Amino acid sequence: MKSKRIHHGKSFDSSTAALDNLMDKLFKQVKAQFGDAIKSFWFYDGDLCPACVQRSIGVVKYKGQDALAINAFIYRERGVLIGYFLCETCATYIFKEAQKNPYQQTPLHADIERNLITAYHKHLAMLDA
Ligand SMILES: [Zn+2]
Repeated sequence: MKSKRIHHGKSFDSSTAALDNLMDKLFKQVKAQFGDAIKSFWFYDGDLCPACVQRSIGVVKYKGQDALAINAFIYRERGVLIGYFLCETCATYIFKEAQKNPYQQTPLHADIERNLITAYHKHLAMLDA
């Protein structure tokens, strides 16, 4: 049996399947592009936003609708595609920056990647324990 994600939010459970779907789609896309360099994927399921590590992860309003805005980055050393959500503030910031400079990473991305890699290693350590 699959373990259930426990969340204190209201509608998170109903969107878990949607999330799995999204992640699966994303994984296939990335795999098609990078081939064997990508071996697995992992979804960051911490409570705090991996960018600011202060606010909790929120559902982002996009054009008046709640959007499940998934982000992902490739942790190349391990061949892992890491998916994550941001808090509303960081998501809005990155969204605006991306409109100004579509192909540029923001300084936030360095923080995000560092925090996600740390979280991923904690996750691996827990599996080994
Ligand atoms: Zn944040």
